[in-house]
Amino acid sequence: QGFRYRPELMEGLPEALAIELKKYEDWFLLEPPKMKAITDHFVRELEKGLTVEGGSIPMNITWIMRYPTGQEKGRILTVDLGGTNIRVCEVCLSAGKRDFEQRQRKYKLPEEVKTTTKEALWGFIADRIASFLTESQSDISASNPLPMAFTFSFPVEQKSIRSGVLQRWTKNFNVSGVVGHDVVPQLEEELAKRNIPVKVVALINDTAGTLVASRYRDPQVKIGSIFSTGCNAAYMEKCRLIPKLYDSGLPEDATVIINTEYGSFDNEGKVLPLTPFDRQIDEESAHPGRQIYEKMVAGLYIGEMLRLVMLKMHEDGVLCKGQDSSRLRAKNSLETSFLSTVEMDMSEGLTNMKKEFKESLNLKLSLDELKACRHLIGLIAMRASRLYACGIAAICMKKGIRQCHVGVDGSVFSKYSMLKGRATQGLRDIFDWDSSRLDLIALNSAEDGSGVGAALVASLTLDPSELEEC
Ligand code: BGC
Ligand code: MG
Repeated sequence: QGFRYRPELMEGLPEALAIELKKYEDWFLLEPPKMKAITDHFVRELEKGLTVEGGSIPMNITWIMRYPTGQEKGRILTVDLGGTNIRVCEVCLSAGKRDFEQRQRKYKLPEEVKTTTKEALWGFIADRIASFLTESQSDISASNPLPMAFTFSFPVEQKSIRSGVLQRWTKNFNVSGVVGHDVVPQLEEELAKRNIPVKVVALINDTAGTLVASRYRDPQVKIGSIFSTGCNAAYMEKCRLIPKLYDSGLPEDATVIINTEYGSFDNEGKVLPLTPFDRQIDEESAHPGRQIYEKMVAGLYIGEMLRLVMLKMHEDGVLCKGQDSSRLRAKNSLETSFLSTVEMDMSEGLTNMKKEFKESLNLKLSLDELKACRHLIGLIAMRASRLYACGIAAICMKKGIRQCHVGVDGSVFSKYSMLKGRATQGLRDIFDWDSSRLDLIALNSAEDGSGVGAALVASLTLDPSELEEC
């Protein structure tokens, strides 16, 4: 039974603790039939999103109509507004060489910029671009601007690849004056105020950038996905299967990358197994009622889930009885990295884990309590991974893909090493793969969707005469 998480950790635990844990097992374990039901509903929702009426999954058209061939070239500035950093890169693509040169800088994104005004947000980004360019020797000028690809990891409705109207903020962003507006002219206005000679030529979702970058290196890649602060995926669709594009006069054989924005799957709560903790996380989030699937999977919420369950156990008198729980009561006091550090502790008597709890929460756990929490962390991370697998499986089913590689970007996926195996086990359970055979759908860590991927997209959309050799 692959979905059981190390029951040996439960052996010999005091009865009160074991009974309490059993309750969470029942809540968090996702057995194969439930996963299949979730995936089936997911497929129908992906399809609904492609219709004119739409559904809860946006299925946004990215206007990236083909994959790179390897002949792309040019010097392109890429800017990625991520959850933690702004990353600026100068990428040099040369035709025929699946290789590139780049220089890059990361700038920390201050918390307050995520909830500020549009002038402050775009101004902050423009300032970082300016300082990046000051360090380079390039001969750009107002008459010879540098093409820029902007990776913007939020849902936008695009009329073309050079524009995008923000549908809503997600994750913990909430900047005023942007929803319902095209983000490109807003950024360009701040660039112009500072006389920065760059021109935005493409607006790209991080999933689309990941798909393109991964595909550039590996032709078996058919899905690009992010498993990080947020969660989402993109894939290439035939335009004749997209009813909302029927009037756009595209050729019969046209294709386009769809940014699914499937973090909003099942906002209605029809199939997702929501626990009281999920409801609390949603209610206390920046955007209640939205991105319900994302809130059960992504890194922004996993640590909070652990905190809430531990707090409940403490209040029920089975964990750290009589200890000062003020830190455990503080919202967002645990990050996802806490879970991965703890799970990776192989020390005798879980001494490292014990230290982590003391440092992060000022709690002293007995060995039994440590074992119980370790089991709990496994349950939480396993549920997230298995739900993550449902989204990937749904795209494969929708497309009739039996075998492919998935490029997965995001620090949660790459740093929390157990998630990959658990998500893969989830895929096995959904598709009933024979465990002695090779997995047909492989989740591979992808890197640099917002650097190389975004530059490739920009190069695909530009006329060769607009690109500078490098
Ligand atoms: C955003 C997506 C993005 C994902 C991963 C979600 O919250 O809506 O656009 O791809 O996070 O960054
Ligand atoms: Mg990112």
